[in-house]
Amino acid sequence: MVSISEIQKVFKGRIALNEPLARFTTFRIGGMADYFVEPSDIDDVINIVKYANDKGIPYYVMGNGSNILISDEGIRGIVINLETSFNYLRMEGSKVVSGSGVKIARFVDFCIQNDKAGIEMLAGIPATVGGALVMNAGAYGGETADHVTEVTVVKGGKLKILAKEDCGFKYRNSELKSTVILEAKFELPAGNKEEVSLRRKELILQRNAAQPVEVPNAGCVFKNPKDNKAAMLIDKCGLKGTKYGGAMVSTKHANFIVNYDKATAHDVIELVKIIKQKVQAETGIDLEMEWKLIGFEEVTI
Ligand SMILES: Cc1cc2nc3c(=O)[nH]c(=O)nc-3n(C[C@H](O)[C@H](O)[C@H](O)COP(=O)(O)OP(=O)(O)OC[C@H]3O[C@@H](n4cnc5c(N)ncnc54)[C@H](O)[C@@H]3O)c2cc1C
Repeated sequence: MVSISEIQKVFKGRIALNEPLARFTTFRIGGMADYFVEPSDIDDVINIVKYANDKGIPYYVMGNGSNILISDEGIRGIVINLETSFNYLRMEGSKVVSGSGVKIARFVDFCIQNDKAGIEMLAGIPATVGGALVMNAGAYGGETADHVTEVTVVKGGKLKILAKEDCGFKYRNSELKSTVILEAKFELPAGNKEEVSLRRKELILQRNAAQPVEVPNAGCVFKNPKDNKAAMLIDKCGLKGTKYGGAMVSTKHANFIVNYDKATAHDVIELVKIIKQKVQAETGIDLEMEWKLIGFEEVTI
């Protein structure tokens, strides 16, 4: 284990040792990170990535922790969080420029206040702009990549500006996973503030009625299989309300697992296995997990 003073030789931002990560996730689950760092600027990001690569220390970028399950043992290595210094929004001509640490709700609001439309359907996704770009998060017919023009990243220890075509955007995925995203530019169509705000409100109400937003969770557990809905398959198998430890299949939306009573990552994994096995046995369909698992030695689901 390296000391904080050694990292401070190349890094000006905040560094914490043994930082508990549960509070940085929407699931409220997960152990500690060896190092948790908040870069103060671009040089800090470049330097910490180079440092980690030189020392052979794994590093991981964390957004709002809304699509991940962190192991109870935590993360060996460096967790980089960009919500402090990459938390800016500005207009550049007709384009919206957003730091990667900005929360989607704030980003959408900024766009609406600047008479822009086309992103209001994303408002209820509990992500950062960085996490939403990596996952190409989307809802109600729109996705994050729709209006992106360029993304600034650190890749291979170097600062790069990627055109949209070089980001490898796909359905709920991209090729940005191997980068640290710093900021992105969006060109959005014009929109009437009142009308776009109203649509945002309606979609958030719709979302809140369908999803267990009042209990900690990490969004949909499984991808929808081709021509099928994971939630429908899980519901058909009578799994709503099934519990393992403090984890439960949501009674509101079958493709959500909720942390209803101090669930551990172990509880969640066991529940995922129960769901997968039952759906496989009853329908012959092998569900594929949506989340990214972090810090697990080896997990066979
Ligand atoms: C209640 C709820 C509802 C949801 N609804 C939707 C929905 O409607 N549509 C949808 O698509 N998703 C939805 N999700 C899932 C989730 O919000 C998205 O996948 C989101 O894009 C994750 O963003 P994040 O900032 O939380 O990223 P994290 O979960 O922190 O990370 C996700 C991945 O992105 C990487 N990453 C994050 N930031 C950066 C960065 N700056 N640079 C490089 N890599 C980075 C991480 O390393 C990780 O691989 C929902 C989740 C919840 C809890």
